[in-house]
Amino acid sequence: MEPQVVVQIGKVKIGGPNFTVIAGPCSIESEQQLLTTAQAVKSSGAALLRGGIWKMRTSAAAFQGLGAEAFPLIKKIKEQTGLSLISEITDIRQVEQTFEIVDAYQVGARNMHNYSLLKELGQQSKPVVLKRGFSAYVDEWIKAADYITMGGNPNVILCERGIRTFETATRNTLDLNGVVYAKTKTNLPIIVDPSHAVGISALVPQISYAAAAAGADGIIVEVHPKPSEALSDGPQALTFDKFNIMMKQLEKVLAAFDKKLNTSV
Ligand code: PEP
Ligand code: MN
Repeated sequence: MEPQVVVQIGKVKIGGPNFTVIAGPCSIESEQQLLTTAQAVKSSGAALLRGGIWKMRTSAAAFQGLGAEAFPLIKKIKEQTGLSLISEITDIRQVEQTFEIVDAYQVGARNMHNYSLLKELGQQSKPVVLKRGFSAYVDEWIKAADYITMGGNPNVILCERGIRTFETATRNTLDLNGVVYAKTKTNLPIIVDPSHAVGISALVPQISYAAAAAGADGIIVEVHPKPSEALSDGPQALTFDKFNIMMKQLEKVLAAFDKKLNTSV
């Protein structure tokens, strides 16, 4: 296999010797919410910020994200904190719309099979975080990444976010097998989303430690100032305190594998 690909988002290198934590709210809800979350996750050791602009909700009546209204506040908060932002795009038109404010495009689980979107992202140079579809085989997930890399954009990070199985006790079933297996089949960095995988905030830390121990290159985690008031995915969001405690423990797990946390600079 070709040597491991290292993908750079802002100043942060994913896929190198260090482990990268990407954290932030599911949806960007307000300036205050995004700013306080960005500051909190950064001070606990996250290297990159996440936050949804357009949300792919199961119910059309549910909060769909701030959309373009979020652009000015994102610009301001990125300047204030120095953090780079990863955000999902759900439509080809959003590639250009968000070009100035998003540092890496996320393709969500629902869009992993949206090959016209993937082809468009292959024409860009900006990094892409490609989530695994709920029911996609590992092989299909890796082949979906080919649509981007073969188009000419080598900057792809794969993200395992849980798949659908017969088990419904947790939101999804994290396929750690798939992470370890995919590592032998692709040279792209692979991260894990423990929040969507398990769906229960109290269980997110253990799943994160397991991902680190399994050799993932990082995690993408949902954090909210007041999870009970979140407009999306509150039950799986960590509070600032819980995130901080998790990060301390995660550093110990990483140390067992001679790894360190990536920082935002
Ligand atoms: C998200 O990251 O908020 C999200 C919607 O993820 P997924 O596409 O994995 O469901
Ligand atoms: Mn979410």
